Amino acid sequence: MKAKYDVGIIGGGIIGQSIAYQLAKENISVVVLEGNKVGAGATSAAAGMLGASSELENNDAFFQFAKESQQQYKTLRHDLTNLSQINIQYVDKGMYKLAFTEQEAYVLKTAMKEHHSLEWHSKQQVLAMEPNLSKEIVGGLYIPEDGHVSPKHVCAAFSKSASLLGAVIVENSPVHSIKKLGEEEYILFTNQSEYSCSHIVIANGVWSDYFFKQLDLEMKVKPVKGECLAVSSENISLEKTIFYDHCYIVPKGDGRLVVGATMVEDDWSTTPTVGGIQTLIEKITPILPAIKSAKLLETWAGLRPQTDDGKPYIGQHPNGENIYFATGHYRNGILLAPKTGTMVRDLILKRKLNEDYVKAFSITRNLAKAAR
Ligand SMILES: Cc1cc2nc3c(=O)[nH]c(=O)nc-3n(C[C@H](O)[C@H](O)[C@H](O)COP(=O)(O)OP(=O)(O)OC[C@H]3O[C@@H](n4cnc5c(N)ncnc54)[C@H](O)[C@@H]3O)c2cc1C
Repeated sequence: MKAKYDVGIIGGGIIGQSIAYQLAKENISVVVLEGNKVGAGATSAAAGMLGASSELENNDAFFQFAKESQQQYKTLRHDLTNLSQINIQYVDKGMYKLAFTEQEAYVLKTAMKEHHSLEWHSKQQVLAMEPNLSKEIVGGLYIPEDGHVSPKHVCAAFSKSASLLGAVIVENSPVHSIKKLGEEEYILFTNQSEYSCSHIVIANGVWSDYFFKQLDLEMKVKPVKGECLAVSSENISLEKTIFYDHCYIVPKGDGRLVVGATMVEDDWSTTPTVGGIQTLIEKITPILPAIKSAKLLETWAGLRPQTDDGKPYIGQHPNGENIYFATGHYRNGILLAPKTGTMVRDLILKRKLNEDYVKAFSITRNLAKAAR
């Protein structure tokens, strides 16, 4: 006999697991089918920055959604740890976006007009906080709310919490097809088994095109490869995340400094290249000169799921089928995971939604633009 569930989630990355957790909390029966190991995709490659203000420049619906998601981490850090006993390594010491020229300082100061929580710190103020940074800086934009987490631990904590609340998590089970049987019955097929579900959520990141095509939908999600490296050094003290020229250094709680990340479009490989790592080292050394003598611990790469306009697809199938999408979170899936979980929960439970978010993340928005 086929196992029966209210909701079947395809993909066990941070997005699928966040949705599973929120649904399981409501006593909805959920199965998550993960093709590999939980969190094995982009989630385990991420640096874990919760960069609402550092990543998103406009004060629009996307920014509001990101801020709400960032806020959710403040309660999730306790709820997930209490339930799963996994510490998500939440650090809220903020971030500096640095300026090396007056022109760069001007651009950063302009951003403060949009976002009131941001502060401009002079060179002396920044160096008093972070003495190992280059003496060539002219100052930095201090973003107090942009902290960071450990993505692998968040994903594992969502997964374990969902499972303790009754969700079934199945690893090494790629879904190869979805078949509609009746009004509210879909079958998810894997090579080993079949799962009968009333609702389906497609949350398989950069691989979502496979189901877009299967469902005759024209949306696209493309890979943007990102390479990172981690170092350690007893001679470097760094409190806050440092951001300059698309590069960042995240000081993790375990003493590692994570440096990222390159942006390579349409590249499906997940092996870091010498050239990619070299670029990062060249960019980061003038910012934190002492990094030259740090120990290189590891390098890695992952695939960010990018949509045409850089915003995720979070919404229902356009024909009103009980098929939902939560994919295309691009550079910010760790930041956006909590709010994506509650939004998909509310979509499935037919609760009141913020219409600005429904419009901003609608899966047909890019098609509508293209037709105009
Ligand atoms: C180098 C790098 C740095 C990043 N840094 C940050 C950061 O600092 N902050 C931030 O917010 N975001 C960051 N991101 C982005 C973030 O990692 C992603 O947006 C996020 O992980 C997407 O999560 P996901 O669950 O949608 O995808 P994934 O984590 O890729 O999960 C999708 C899962 O679906 C599974 N799957 C695929 N096909 C199937 C199938 N047919 N059946 C079943 N399962 C399937 C895969 O095995 C995978 O586990 C970074 C990304 C990279 C690459």
